Amino acid sequence: MSLKIVPQNVEIRNNKIEFENLLFFIIDSNSNTKIEPLIGYDAIIIDAKDADFAQLVLRKIRGHYNPEFYLKPVFLINYKESKDPILHTMNDGFIHSYDQLKEIADIAKQLFLKTTQLDYQPVATFEAQIIKKVLNYMYTRDLKTLKPIPDLNSVIGYTYPEISINFDSTEESQVLEILEWGEKEGLIWPDFYERIYLCNQCSGGFLSYREVCPHCNSSNSSAQDLVHHFPCAYIGPISDFRNNVDNSLTCPKCNKALRHIGVDYDKPSIIHHCNNCDKNFQDFFVRAKCISCTQDVEVQYLIPKSINIYKLTKRGRTAAANGFLSSGKEVDDIFGTLSMPVFKTMLHYEIERIKENTEQKSSIAIINIENILELYKKIGKKAEKTVLESVVNLIRENIKPTDFMAFENSTTLYMCLINNDFIQTESDLTKLKSLIEKLIKNNFNDFEVKINFKASLLQPFNKSEFQLDELTKELFD
Ligand SMILES: [Zn+2]
Ligand SMILES: [Zn+2]
Ligand SMILES: [Zn+2]
Repeated sequence: MSLKIVPQNVEIRNNKIEFENLLFFIIDSNSNTKIEPLIGYDAIIIDAKDADFAQLVLRKIRGHYNPEFYLKPVFLINYKESKDPILHTMNDGFIHSYDQLKEIADIAKQLFLKTTQLDYQPVATFEAQIIKKVLNYMYTRDLKTLKPIPDLNSVIGYTYPEISINFDSTEESQVLEILEWGEKEGLIWPDFYERIYLCNQCSGGFLSYREVCPHCNSSNSSAQDLVHHFPCAYIGPISDFRNNVDNSLTCPKCNKALRHIGVDYDKPSIIHHCNNCDKNFQDFFVRAKCISCTQDVEVQYLIPKSINIYKLTKRGRTAAANGFLSSGKEVDDIFGTLSMPVFKTMLHYEIERIKENTEQKSSIAIINIENILELYKKIGKKAEKTVLESVVNLIRENIKPTDFMAFENSTTLYMCLINNDFIQTESDLTKLKSLIEKLIKNNFNDFEVKINFKASLLQPFNKSEFQLDELTKELFD
């Protein structure tokens, strides 16, 4: 951020600044940490000289459930590079002096404008509430990705600041559940970044890995070379060949001196000796002890989790301003459609069928009605089912009885078109698109619906899940 000196007479009285019709409040380490009285201020400036204090206040503001607080423009003064990911990322800018008020006032006004574009309709579930909050924050700040940051204070070792702010550092594994939910709803798209392993008891990620004795699980062992004497075929640990006087090696079986490695003897491997139970062994077990709950478990029983970088999908990008309906039960029982699990099973059988008859071509398609949430907002959520039913009826009239489809959620529909090649499917979908547009325009006060679709040929040797994922990715990317 450039340092712009603006000539001005700024007065700071009782930590308040009035500037260009905006009311700023400065929080410093002498201030009360109660944030509720700050509701009337347009922006907050936190004095970050004391980083711990600044972090505490920022966490309270961004972790608040009320958008009046968590979306508030917050700036830091006297900030020094901090290891805390929240303090470093969840602010709206750093200033060096109050001469930069003009800059942050402009940012605050921009943010305020963005917050007026948000949809504030209540959402039903806990996951939806958290995700909506995160999407609101990202929308107002123009953020497009959720990135994991290595963090010692998180029990899983990584933090996603925008989501983690809503949880205690000990509850960080819940953040992963929220992300999984957002992914399932088609709001975010994962890019693999790293794999982590969590305790199967407490989901903690601070694990101490040790090589242990397979007989007694003790990690108190030592290793030494195994020596194979060729002339007499004796194999034993190198200590059997040593003496107390010099470095020479003598075979304990045939008493010959060992001369050259590779010529008369070899070291085929390593042997471990357990200092606890006194047994020798070749391969140890690897166990992980959880530092949080002290459970000691073989590594194969740990819970593997992917740490992904998440990109907002088109649906995710528009959800902040348009609201979103969770893929609830309401789309499961629309006549003429299948549930998603049944759809996937049927698709699996269709793949098996075309494997047998490779000259037969079938297609899969995804149809997304981008702005249908705006329509629901106009006509009420109760009318959602009526809209979807009339869309399904229309599609049914224009496809074969053997074709099948399912709603992923109330904006996205998957279809499988039997014995339809790619060109035929593209032309069918183009026709369907214009029919649906007409239907909605004629029945719902000239509403202009935006429909996107993607189709692809069903591949005989790829899993159905994978093919649906690829298609979805193509549409939403
Ligand atoms: Zn042992
Ligand atoms: Zn020997
Ligand atoms: Zn544990």
